[in-house]
Amino acid sequence: MAAIPKQAELPKVRISSRGVMRLKSGHVWVYRSDIVSADGAAPGAVVSVTDERGKKLGAALYSSSSQIAIRLISREPVGDFPALLRQRIAEAIAYRENLVRDTDAYRVIFSEADFLPGLIVDRYNDVVSLQILTQAMDGEPVREAIIAELAQRLKPASIVERVDARVRELETLPPRVSGLVRGEKTATTFSMNGVHFRYDAVEGQKTGAFLDQRENYAAAAQYARGEALDVFCYQGGFALHLAGSCTQVSGVDSSRPALEMAEQNAGLNQGRLGGKEMEWIEANAFDLLKDYASASRRYDMIVLDPPAFAKSKRDLDAAMRGYKELNLRALKMLRPGGILVTCSCSYHVSRTEFLEMLGEAAVDSRRSLRLVEVRGQARDHPILVNVPETGYLKCVISSVS
Ligand code: SAH
Repeated sequence: MAAIPKQAELPKVRISSRGVMRLKSGHVWVYRSDIVSADGAAPGAVVSVTDERGKKLGAALYSSSSQIAIRLISREPVGDFPALLRQRIAEAIAYRENLVRDTDAYRVIFSEADFLPGLIVDRYNDVVSLQILTQAMDGEPVREAIIAELAQRLKPASIVERVDARVRELETLPPRVSGLVRGEKTATTFSMNGVHFRYDAVEGQKTGAFLDQRENYAAAAQYARGEALDVFCYQGGFALHLAGSCTQVSGVDSSRPALEMAEQNAGLNQGRLGGKEMEWIEANAFDLLKDYASASRRYDMIVLDPPAFAKSKRDLDAAMRGYKELNLRALKMLRPGGILVTCSCSYHVSRTEFLEMLGEAAVDSRRSLRLVEVRGQARDHPILVNVPETGYLKCVISSVS
């Protein structure tokens, strides 16, 4: 393993008083505009962070290209980074052992929320999926330490890497391809809440499942009955959870590969579903809702789980209009006493803004909404209280009259 310098030799990055305030408030990021000097800090280096006078604030991972130049990893000196990594990985695994139930698929490491900025690890039964999002986590000795520790602790059949080409470009990292980094197995099945799913790391969409919705699937299933429509169904996460208690479930998505996987997943659950009618519709959700609403289609439950409409603050207005249109149409199509399950995974849309949008949609559709549950992401995606960016998912379940 290549030598990583000890703390005494760590390159120093000095930050402005605004950066210092941010760290003192409990956050772990310092933006590039708050860097005073970073002389001698190589891309992805472990650095010692100081204020302008040279007072030490902790150790951080440095990025030479991201707007987030500094991600603090410790407020104490760090001598041996790979050893710290191994310890944090062990702690992240132990954290889930107490919290995660009824599944063999969950997020093992959630970046900043597990004090491992830039590292995301998901487990799908015996296949582990790894995502590396920062320069520091991409260095060869660091990668090796991560992979070896995951292999030893989780003993998976294989480890696959999922590459986000856009992130690598932003971090000015050389391109890589998604694929196996350990073992041979690329596909498996996993289950959550008694529902079975297929995971395939190389075929189809390669994105895996939306593990952050796991507890929301179970919550929604409690209220399922009659006819249900799962809009933005992807591989059938909500639809398959609802099917057990419904007479009919339709899933809608614009992605054919996602619907093909949903169909396969339905096959895996045949025993549980007992020949229940499931329908997978390839369509643009906005168009379909419009058509169904004007055709006076009615449902007892509608799930809305669109992709993040607000990728940045700039998109916020357009995003809110999108959410409102979807929710308005869905509300019009629910029978009295029906249940709306509506989600947003945009960090830039706060829980308050999302509830306000829902309130406006209720007024415009002349329906009364009672909040049954206001939920967030599954607990294997922890939210670090001083790093609000770690919390992003909203899932509101309401009763419509
Ligand atoms: N509910 C899913 C996750 C949804 S992710 C689950 O729990 O697994 C968002 C999905 O929206 C993706 O599958 C994507 O293909 C789909 N999508 C994006 N834009 C769409 C559109 N305009 N109409 C229909 N589906 C769309």
